[in-house]
Amino acid sequence: MKVYFLGTGTSQGIPIIGSDHPVCKSTDYKDKRLRVAVWITWENNSYVIDCGPDFRQQMLACGCKKVDAILFTHEHSDHTAGLDDIRPFNFKQGEIPIYAHQRVIANLKRRFEYVFETVNKYPGAPSVKTITVCNNEPFAIGNKTAIPINVMHGDLQVFGYRIDDFAYLTDVKTIAPEEIAKLKNLKVLVVNALRDAPHNTHFNLQEALDFIALIQPEKAYLTHISHLLGFHEAVQKRLPDHVFLAYDNLEITI
Ligand SMILES: [Zn+2]
Repeated sequence: MKVYFLGTGTSQGIPIIGSDHPVCKSTDYKDKRLRVAVWITWENNSYVIDCGPDFRQQMLACGCKKVDAILFTHEHSDHTAGLDDIRPFNFKQGEIPIYAHQRVIANLKRRFEYVFETVNKYPGAPSVKTITVCNNEPFAIGNKTAIPINVMHGDLQVFGYRIDDFAYLTDVKTIAPEEIAKLKNLKVLVVNALRDAPHNTHFNLQEALDFIALIQPEKAYLTHISHLLGFHEAVQKRLPDHVFLAYDNLEITI
């Protein structure tokens, strides 16, 4: 299985529009971060977790030719705003299954009303088939199983996903012990780390490192990164040997 980091930035992306912050001005390509998403492939299977406002650019960058389904973590715009750009896949493949919590599906139906129109729908509009994700109900994706992991983003419920020995958790601030129990024996854990200073709804770096120490994956990759965390190269030097700062277009094999 391959995991391709489509984006590793927090909600505004890096650089931030109009910012003179040194990280936003960095010329290191690892300091340029689109909004968070990953592309997961194995054999002939191709799945994307989240579909934010950079989706089109991300699909062009990674060379993705088909999407078997999109798994959503939650409804925030940095994770969903690119839904209109699935159309090239619709034109080739037909409707795309989207997996999400029922609250997220209801939210998408409001924000992308035209996608879900049943009468006089515009022929070129995106086309999706919704599948509700429930906690403690793993579901099949291709010949593998996706296990939803229930986490909290402040007061908002968010799903992470475990597939085989890989788990992807973003926008986590707290996680219950019964969910932590679903994360044993991971080869790779991806988890969010916003910055050094504490934040109400995101792990800061220390919280992410404490969480990784608790879960004990073989390797961990940090994502959903703010410019305030600092330069990629400098931050990487501060991390334990088995923890890596992810960057856009990084591909790992599990
Ligand atoms: Zn987010």
